[in-house]
Amino acid sequence: MRPPSRTGRPSYVALSESGELGRRAQRAARLLAACELCPRRCGVDRTTGAGGVCGIGARARVASYGPHHGEESVLRGRAGSGTVFFGGCNLRCRFCQNSEISHRPAGEELAPAQLAAVFLDVQDMGCHNLNLVTPSHVVAQILAALAIAVPQGLRIPIVYNTGGYDAVETLALLDGVVDIYMPDVKLLDAEPAERYLTARDYPEVVRRAMTEMQRQVGDLVVGADGLAVRGLLVRHLVMPGLVAESEQVFAFLAGLSPDTFVNVMDQYRPCAEASLATADVDRGQRDGRQRLAEAAPRRDGGRVHREDAAPARDAGNTAARNDQTDVVSDGRDRVADLRSIARRITRAEFGAALDAARAAGLRRAARSP
Ligand code: SF4
Repeated sequence: MRPPSRTGRPSYVALSESGELGRRAQRAARLLAACELCPRRCGVDRTTGAGGVCGIGARARVASYGPHHGEESVLRGRAGSGTVFFGGCNLRCRFCQNSEISHRPAGEELAPAQLAAVFLDVQDMGCHNLNLVTPSHVVAQILAALAIAVPQGLRIPIVYNTGGYDAVETLALLDGVVDIYMPDVKLLDAEPAERYLTARDYPEVVRRAMTEMQRQVGDLVVGADGLAVRGLLVRHLVMPGLVAESEQVFAFLAGLSPDTFVNVMDQYRPCAEASLATADVDRGQRDGRQRLAEAAPRRDGGRVHREDAAPARDAGNTAARNDQTDVVSDGRDRVADLRSIARRITRAEFGAALDAARAAGLRRAARSP
């Protein structure tokens, strides 16, 4: 038997009963035909199974799901937060802490009814909430699944656990559906956004997105049991050499509301491309550059694809040799690009970030347990 709702009737139940949830799902599904679900606006027809930057077609992929005890205490409680990890991502952070899942179409493709069954299973496990991890590129599939799961008894709060690269128009479809927005706001300058996130417009996008999230749900409300009920919970991962970015993030959040709940995180470690840069920089190994060039997604008119770095079969094929030389050279440039973030943060940097949060006037910013 499913546990009773801890918060009474979530607002998504009324949306479901009025038919609005189903209509939202249909509107979102239409966005997939020439995909503009997220700010990349790739324009690919995902209904045919093709993917854009996110690499995901018509069906969502789920890499894993179940109770998670490593989330913030206001989410995990005693029974855990019910995380559903989606494969793919609309960002391509070159330091991604989760790249095995998010930089490739990882996980099993699920039809809407199967995804609904996952959501209900999470609730049956006793999890305090349904925590949708990296959901921006699969909002249509999530709404379709919710339109099935809510009439079947889904009642736990929904957490939208995002990198923050969300279109306001898509977030509007989630108004009254999502209880807790949890954007991971990374930085607010265009140059490092392009260099590290491969999204130059990330700062303006995330500013608009967080403003819309705050409009929908307000500051985070925590119940007497210590669990988040509704509101905005912001994560900010302090990055090496980028404390000035943290200052900008905190100033923006304080402008949204001085009571914005902010988890200031110190666990940055160089992953994905940044980890390859570490190996290369530390050891000066040329093959590290080669691996980097082979592994790196390259942008092409806003799209991302893997560079074909295979060696030329014909030793006399000059054009192919030149192509490969370009790739290795590109890999060297990429190493230089990532050197400054190819290390952990220092204690002093984290202390400076916390000081900046206080100086900005944020009353609920801390390293969250
Ligand atoms: S990244 Fe994915 S979700 Fe975003 S517009 Fe491109 S295909 Fe659509």
